[in-house]
Amino acid sequence: MPNNENLTVTTDTVIVGAGFAGLGMGIKLKRSGFDDFVIIERESDLGGAWRDNTYPGVACDVPSHVYSYSFRTNPHWSRVRAPGSEILEYLRTCAREEGLLSYLRFDAPMDRATWDQDSGRWIVETPSVTYSARFLVTACGHLADEKLPDLPGVDSFAGEYFHSARWNHEVSLEGKRIALIGSGASAIQLLPELAKVGSEVVVFQRSPAYIMPSPNPVYSEADQRLFERSPDTLRALRTETFWTAEANFAARRGVPKYLEAGRKIPLGHLDRSVSDPELKAKLTPDYELGCKRLLGSDLYYPALQQDHVTLEASALARIDGSRVISAAGNSFEVDVVVFATGFEAAEPVFANVVYGRDGLQLAESWSQGMTAYASNTTHGFPNLFIMNGPNTSSGHNSAIYILEAQMDYILGAVTFAEEEGAHVLEVTSEAEAEYVADVRQRSEGTVWLDGGCRNWYVDRRTGALTLIWPDFMHAFRELNATFEPDAYSIDTPVAAPSVSVG
Ligand SMILES: Cc1cc2nc3c(=O)[nH]c(=O)nc-3n(C[C@H](O)[C@H](O)[C@H](O)COP(=O)(O)OP(=O)(O)OC[C@H]3O[C@@H](n4cnc5c(N)ncnc54)[C@H](O)[C@@H]3O)c2cc1C
Repeated sequence: MPNNENLTVTTDTVIVGAGFAGLGMGIKLKRSGFDDFVIIERESDLGGAWRDNTYPGVACDVPSHVYSYSFRTNPHWSRVRAPGSEILEYLRTCAREEGLLSYLRFDAPMDRATWDQDSGRWIVETPSVTYSARFLVTACGHLADEKLPDLPGVDSFAGEYFHSARWNHEVSLEGKRIALIGSGASAIQLLPELAKVGSEVVVFQRSPAYIMPSPNPVYSEADQRLFERSPDTLRALRTETFWTAEANFAARRGVPKYLEAGRKIPLGHLDRSVSDPELKAKLTPDYELGCKRLLGSDLYYPALQQDHVTLEASALARIDGSRVISAAGNSFEVDVVVFATGFEAAEPVFANVVYGRDGLQLAESWSQGMTAYASNTTHGFPNLFIMNGPNTSSGHNSAIYILEAQMDYILGAVTFAEEEGAHVLEVTSEAEAEYVADVRQRSEGTVWLDGGCRNWYVDRRTGALTLIWPDFMHAFRELNATFEPDAYSIDTPVAAPSVSVG
């Protein structure tokens, strides 16, 4: 029960998080006539990853025409992979035009959510309002809580340092000596921009990435007009882009001939782009293709070869005053350190504040790694739906496709509860265990487990693949987009809610 004495508001559904998942869920509920919900967001704006990541060069790396809602296509993407600001604007437009703004509650972090067995409701505490809700949908993101390495000496650093997801726009980088920590998806977008302004840039690379050629052509006004006038053309482009990406799963599955063919593309790109054998060796991965996220850039290798840019093929080990020192023992004097060091993904932060039946903490329940039935619901946590949680990340296609399947599942559950008068839905432990066993079986032999790298898709406590969906994306939809009540124990009513918001 709430331990603060603030206002209590009763609503049907609380959605936590206003990124692609939470906003899309709101749109789906509203369009289906379920308008008794709120979307609580800890920040003071919507947009999730695209609000937080404002670093120079930020863009999606999956084509925008699939990295957008199927139910709100956008004919006006400026290029194949749109910049982050455009994606944020797209989400703003969706929220405004779908009439979602009045459902959003900003500066409202979910401090604690507790299942109240007596009323069969979630008690969701935020600093100023406590919500009593029948359903709780967590849409807190899996790349939302940035990870800073625990580095000796960081407090002694004389200059400025920040994470790529919390860009400090107050700091001018013009003429500065910059250390870029990391060589993953954000770092390869950042380096070309940092190299334009910095007097010296040193990149700390723990392990190199496979990088595909990635031309990013603009869509002309004529293209955009065509997409606007001919939704069929746009739909056909979406379909083609989706299925082209789907084909890449065969390599992730570990099928040798696809791996061999797939490897040739990034290694050929490296070969054509870098002539210095020593640098090429440092940039050649020693693990299997796709084990870590496969990246795309035409700008990274040229940026890396500029005279004022240095690749330090070693992790950053410590900081001493204005010097950053690698594990290999090399030291560089810098003014600014940019950490492109990723996010807390496999052990989601929100799970620390969610308490289910009998006071069970979600983080505790997941102490051996995240699990859920249909990658969505988990035993002991009735009426809780988890978006972008266990086995929902995509290693080869658009995240939005998975999120939309999850929205349909949740909408199905809410509709079922409404039509059948079901008040409490709790997935059985047997159904969850069976699903998890199936996912584990699909994971076997994939490059994420057998590819010889350390990646963030695997739970470090157990070695299980808990983040990525280890199959084709369309298989996720086939399996997980339709609510099947058979997997649930179902309770009917307790006290009816009294006040509504929306
Ligand atoms: C730089 C970057 C580029 C990416 N590019 C791609 C791409 O090209 N293709 C792709 O498929 N995916 C990409 N992704 C992955 C991306 O995370 C997903 O595509 C998508 O944005 C996830 O949406 P979401 O709503 O689940 O999470 P998010 O967008 O992360 O939104 C989660 C929201 O929940 C809020 N929140 C979290 N905890 C709480 C709490 N306790 N209380 C209240 N609010 C809370 C956060 O503030 C945030 O607004 C990228 C991610 C990043 C960081």
